[in-house]
Amino acid sequence: MRQLGILGGMSWESTASYYRLLNQGVREHLGGLHSAPLLLQSLDFAEVAELQRCGDWHAAGELLARAAQGLQQAGATALLLATNTMHKVAPALESAVDIPLLHIADAVGQSLQRQGVKRAALLGTRFTMQEDFYRQRLVERFAIEVMIPGAEQMAEIDRVIFAELCQGQFLSPAREFYLDCLRALQQQGAEVAILGCTEIGLLLDGLDAPLPLLDSTERHVAMGLEWMLGGV
Ligand code: GLU
Repeated sequence: MRQLGILGGMSWESTASYYRLLNQGVREHLGGLHSAPLLLQSLDFAEVAELQRCGDWHAAGELLARAAQGLQQAGATALLLATNTMHKVAPALESAVDIPLLHIADAVGQSLQRQGVKRAALLGTRFTMQEDFYRQRLVERFAIEVMIPGAEQMAEIDRVIFAELCQGQFLSPAREFYLDCLRALQQQGAEVAILGCTEIGLLLDGLDAPLPLLDSTERHVAMGLEWMLGGV
């Protein structure tokens, strides 16, 4: 298997899912005692979130680029950046290393394309929902029309991510609120909802949603597994 580097801790709640799902995937494919050859660089999310909050994306890019270089030096053959939002600085990271960054929006886009989806709703942080770095990639590379919630709903979705989900709180009021948002987007014509924040799947796990959900964490892990097992 090829060794994979994970840039995680953003937040560790979802990095723990990556670790478990990657190992489960290897077990499913290879059986027995096989487990995933991984290198994990787990950052202090308070530091990263503060850089996001004050808009210092340059410093955030440098921080992640250094971490990526460390993983490359330690023997990673490819990288998974285990957050949608921080793909805003993917170019800084990609130019700092010689190994591929397996881009989370490509994992999502490929899966939507395979399903023949044309219009997808996107839930994530305010950065992911409002800015171009993620949506444009889905539009340009995969011809997906991306729908986002209204401004007030976006603000609350974002608040819940930082104040609750990234702090390990998965509560009923937030669950109900997210389901309301999904209902509205489905009524506006969304065929599928992208869970474009790696912690949202933890909140909505096992729920009966008003439309099919596509979890970016699961798709990203599948992409990582394909890389890891590519030579097997
Ligand atoms: N894990 C989240 C994401 O997938 C949010 C945390 C962050 O801002 O990096 O976007």
